Amino acid sequence: MSDPFPAVAHDHRRCVDEALTEAARLCEGRGVRLTALRRRVLELVWQSHAPVGAYRVMELLGAERGSVAPPTVYRALDFLVQHGLVHRIESLNAFIGCRAPAASHRAFFLICRACREVAELDDAELARTLDRRAVAAGFMVEEARVEVTGTCARCRRMAA
Ligand SMILES: [Zn+2]
Ligand SMILES: [Zn+2]
Ligand SMILES: [Zn+2]
Repeated sequence: MSDPFPAVAHDHRRCVDEALTEAARLCEGRGVRLTALRRRVLELVWQSHAPVGAYRVMELLGAERGSVAPPTVYRALDFLVQHGLVHRIESLNAFIGCRAPAASHRAFFLICRACREVAELDDAELARTLDRRAVAAGFMVEEARVEVTGTCARCRRMAA
């Protein structure tokens, strides 16, 4: 299976551009507004492949726009999460941009402890297994999160 983490040297501007273009398309298709603020918050979350905390987003926005009310930022983040443009990484209390927001998917995350980057595993088989086991246990799943912590191939190569 290929490395889901991005290469060290890649044109990240392209990742950001693609994410913003995709977000605009998706919002238009759903008839919701990608306001300038929501767009900028998405761009700030996408500043790297490492998750960003709400507080950091607030700080960056504040530096650009003067003070920004925290609820404004939380609402923008909620909107982005709700539309699958951004995922919340619970264990880090931070947000990461989704590379495939249009496709409905259960997000499974690999979190690298060394570079702090997060990769998304879109694994239908894993999702099915989880569902099957939960059903067998008589459990009704509302939300399933898998956040796996470790070291990515890149960081392991560098450490070798
Ligand atoms: Zn990138
Ligand atoms: Zn995703
Ligand atoms: Zn790493």
